[in-house]
Amino acid sequence: MSTDSQNLRKRAKEQEINGEQPPPYSETFNQIPPNVNQVVILQQMFYEEPVRVVCQHCGADIVTSTRYKNGTATWLAAAVMCFIGLGFGCCLIPFCMKGAKDVIHSCPKCRRVVGQYSRIGE
Ligand SMILES: [Zn+2]
Repeated sequence: MSTDSQNLRKRAKEQEINGEQPPPYSETFNQIPPNVNQVVILQQMFYEEPVRVVCQHCGADIVTSTRYKNGTATWLAAAVMCFIGLGFGCCLIPFCMKGAKDVIHSCPKCRRVVGQYSRIGE
């Protein structure tokens, strides 16, 4: 970065010697690439496993802690089991199965939810 600005100044000096106008400094500022962090967060996909993300609440670089929550798929599985007549009680099986639950990803530092993985796309 400092080498670049040194080169720029050197070039500007050379151009001054040659009688040309040095490039305006505002142009140099415009060339700074935009912060891509925001895009990375938006593209982050959450699955069953904890993932490494930058928390959008406290900004810390964290590995999410996951917990399971009864989601749409859980209720759907329960409804299906009831419907096909497995009897009272069996329809509660999905509520005990991790595989039928949504996964909530939260920040271990600030305890806020940073993402969610649903079995059924919403
Ligand atoms: Zn956080």
